[in-house]
Amino acid sequence: MPWECGLKRVHPVRKSDLPSKTCPVCTRPFSWRRKWSRNWDEVRYCSEKCRRSRKANGA
Ligand SMILES: [Zn+2]
Repeated sequence: MPWECGLKRVHPVRKSDLPSKTCPVCTRPFSWRRKWSRNWDEVRYCSEKCRRSRKANGA
């Protein structure tokens, strides 16, 4: 039998592997940033500016 036991999968971390989302305000994709590391799930806008403009536009 050949070497079948080494099936470990390595996941190298690259910058391009960072998660990303699309900003609903400017419709541009933005990538994960360190400052969002704690609340990435809640992040919806690429910047504070878009976040505010969204609120201003709404209602
Ligand atoms: Zn935006």
